[in-house]
Amino acid sequence: MEDCLFCKIIKGEIPSTKVYEDDMVYAFNDIEPQAPYHIVIVPKIHISSANELTEENSKYVARIFEVVPKIAKELGFAENGYRVINNCGEDGGQTVKHLHFHLTGGRQFLWPAG
Ligand code: AMP
Ligand code: ZN
Repeated sequence: MEDCLFCKIIKGEIPSTKVYEDDMVYAFNDIEPQAPYHIVIVPKIHISSANELTEENSKYVARIFEVVPKIAKELGFAENGYRVINNCGEDGGQTVKHLHFHLTGGRQFLWPAG
């Protein structure tokens, strides 16, 4: 996807602070962090949102959730806990149309608000 911000980040055409990378997944620090730790985790193929997930491509989501505890342990906030968020579509507040999960930690999040 030529015009996709996260595809450009994956290709290195736009700079990012890499936190983790493997054959399927790329993770980097969010440019506008909402918590002391705020990492964006993306599949290395363009999937525009959770609405596009299928039996064929859901392995990327499985890999992302394998990577979540690795990153949280590596950065030292696993034990205290964290929140993983996916925003889908307009009502979900999705601004970048490339599937991504926000991994946020280092502070307490309130539920349902906050
Ligand atoms: P969402 O609103 O769920 O689509 O999340 C998009 C996220 O991407 C936001 O939290 C932005 O702060 C973040 N973001 C946008 N541009 C960049 C960038 N160049 N580098 C890192 N994070 C970015
Ligand atoms: Zn993309």
